[in-house]
Amino acid sequence: MNTKKIRSFKTLVLGTVLLFASCQKESVEENVTDDVTTSNGKLIEKYFDGDLVTVKDMGNGEYLYHDDIILSEEHVSDTPQIANQKLTLLDPVRKWPNNTVVFALSSNLSLKLRVNILLAMKRWSRKTNIKFKKRTNEFSYVTIMQSEDVCSTCGLASIGFNFGGGVIKLGHNVDANLVTHELGHTLGFLHEQARPERDNYIIIKWENIRSGQEDQFKIKNSRRLTRAFDINSIMMYHQYAFSKNGKPTITLLNGEGYTGAQETISPLDIIGTNAAYPKR
Ligand SMILES: [Zn+2]
Repeated sequence: MNTKKIRSFKTLVLGTVLLFASCQKESVEENVTDDVTTSNGKLIEKYFDGDLVTVKDMGNGEYLYHDDIILSEEHVSDTPQIANQKLTLLDPVRKWPNNTVVFALSSNLSLKLRVNILLAMKRWSRKTNIKFKKRTNEFSYVTIMQSEDVCSTCGLASIGFNFGGGVIKLGHNVDANLVTHELGHTLGFLHEQARPERDNYIIIKWENIRSGQEDQFKIKNSRRLTRAFDINSIMMYHQYAFSKNGKPTITLLNGEGYTGAQETISPLDIIGTNAAYPKR
């Protein structure tokens, strides 16, 4: 499925697509010069999930947020709206029915990416109530594809279930950890480092964040996968995420670095996922 087809899909669906980007540790150097995606558009302010945010108007019903999150008309408004604290089928971000993610693999995926996708799916399905089903004739499904729209170690994912279709775009060199993270967005989960109480646990090193990416590190009062801050969450940014100079953009309160973020599904991730998707 090409980008044009995806765009037309998104204009048709009720629950349209919110895209997130993520990069792996190895891509720190690459990110110094390369954005996850490229875009043009006028900067305007809109409300998203209770917060007034700056977005780039792409002129096609899509708004680019954080330079790597695509919001649709359904996700933004000109007046404040109450933030949703949990995932339900009625929220702007929707859960997958029957705990089952229906997916289609694009024919352009390399063997390496197919293996990493399978590994990532097994991580979720072994540890949580989530199941993955290859599409047969379902109307709504997520298409997983290799893409030049993102850097070689980056990924983008639509958030939650979307009527009609969603997408995960992967660079040709992503690993299973990155795919596991992107699948977390597909399940409906946002980033851990932006949760409201994060300043009790980490320090954001604003001086090391690449220009234009600061919004990614701002607190957002929105739903999260875990019930308490979890440095080991699959949805937590690693310590060099979007660094402009190779120095950490996030440290612990004592100034030290950390490992374990965005690597695998943590115990709190499992509890949070199973709370959002109870056993059926
Ligand atoms: Zn992400």
